[in-house]
Amino acid sequence: MRLNWLRSSRVEDRFETWIAKRHEERVLAGQTAPSGPHPDEAFLQDLARKSKRISLADPRIDHAASCPICMSRLLTLRQEHRSHEQRLMFATAVAVCALVIVGAVVTYRAVQKSPATANTAFVSQTVNLWDAGTVRGEQPGELQSVSLSAASVRLKIILPRFSPAGRYAVAVTRNQTGTGVLAQATADTIAEGQQETLSVDLDLHRAAAGTYFLATTHEQDQAAYYYPLQIK
Ligand SMILES: [Zn+2]
Repeated sequence: MRLNWLRSSRVEDRFETWIAKRHEERVLAGQTAPSGPHPDEAFLQDLARKSKRISLADPRIDHAASCPICMSRLLTLRQEHRSHEQRLMFATAVAVCALVIVGAVVTYRAVQKSPATANTAFVSQTVNLWDAGTVRGEQPGELQSVSLSAASVRLKIILPRFSPAGRYAVAVTRNQTGTGVLAQATADTIAEGQQETLSVDLDLHRAAAGTYFLATTHEQDQAAYYYPLQIK
């Protein structure tokens, strides 16, 4: 951007030098009277912008170089063109700065956010209790071994058949009496077809590997069901 600008201003300097020299030659040759009619405004504007369409051999350039009216108009147009370009340069510079700032802010936020994101990276796991016993007091006997990761677990629980809908407390405990709670959360059931499911986030990343219990307690009947659980 800056290089382009420098290059184009060098071209402009050369052009102006050429115009001045041309004028000087004409004055020295005693040709102070402009030759031909005044060129139209469009031509002067093109000239002011150094349009490539204009040949330096164009007689209107000779005229402009020696006509005070055209030269004055040309200088005004040049000035306008230059300030327009400068405004454009300025606007571009502002836009570039804004982009750099936005980029920096986005990067900064991303950097700020990444540790938090790492902390809340959940391991999604599903525990299916559909076929587990639901009669109160009945041991959920031949329960398939439920295992969870020692991590922040986003746990989906498919509740046993005939489980009532509503709010449940879910806990991971060290024993079957409900003490030694490692993590707990509450959630409302979500019906999925015939099944009632719960979705809870449990932070188990500090849990040592071993045997625990997964407890579910319905808010209303307060009966807790414990399912053997392995944390790996
Ligand atoms: Zn003129």
